[in-house]
Amino acid sequence: MSGMDLSFIPRNLADVKARIARAAERIGRDPAGVRLVAITKTKGADHVRAALDAGHTLFGENYVQELLSKSQLIGTGAEWHLVGHLQTNKVKKVVGVAAAIQTLDRIDLAAEVEKRAAAAGTTMDCLVEVNLAGEASKTGTAPGEVASLVRAFVSLPHVRVRGLMCVPPFLPPDQVRRYFKNLREMLARITNEMDPGPGFCELSMGMSGDFEAAVEEGATIVRVGTAIFGQRG
Ligand SMILES: *Cc1c(COP(=O)(O)O)cnc(C)c1O
Repeated sequence: MSGMDLSFIPRNLADVKARIARAAERIGRDPAGVRLVAITKTKGADHVRAALDAGHTLFGENYVQELLSKSQLIGTGAEWHLVGHLQTNKVKKVVGVAAAIQTLDRIDLAAEVEKRAAAAGTTMDCLVEVNLAGEASKTGTAPGEVASLVRAFVSLPHVRVRGLMCVPPFLPPDQVRRYFKNLREMLARITNEMDPGPGFCELSMGMSGDFEAAVEEGATIVRVGTAIFGQRG
């Protein structure tokens, strides 16, 4: 290890958590209702360790291989969410390691998660990723298909659909806010239209540049990388 000074990590973590709390309090929400997923992509396990030592336990990765290698290096004590695109042939590796898959966006992927979770004797927490602006460069379900996908996923006994996730277009916080509102309204609409169960309540939205706006719009999970670990190389 390089012995690099990582004391900025606990400082940044405390700062981000304070900003989440203030944003929640501004609209009368309990800050405890917002979970922070610290996104460690491209950063070494020493960065994860520094955050863990500061008492933070929830981490997120985009790539399966990075999630697997860091979770193995870190061992027990940390929880991992997959927040990037998942190929069907990699599901087997993720089930039993990740605490949640935030990017369930198609039926064949859900069927594979069901199969692998059943075989492992576990249930997998998942969020449905929504491509709110229909961006061709991004994965995620088209908004018009989310309800029917949720309906299909709910019937899978080893898949627990916990809510919705989005990566909206890269815009300033004041312009991205309407996408956060869209996702919140989508969750409410689906909850009213069917009975996805009481566990269907999570909204994963907001990153370094806009997590406060996301909290104000109802995020229960924010995913923050740069503001904690610094710029990625
Ligand atoms: C990288 C990434 C984040 C974190 O982005 P920052 O701007 O570094 O906070 C959040 N969510 C997803 C899906 C990501 O890929």
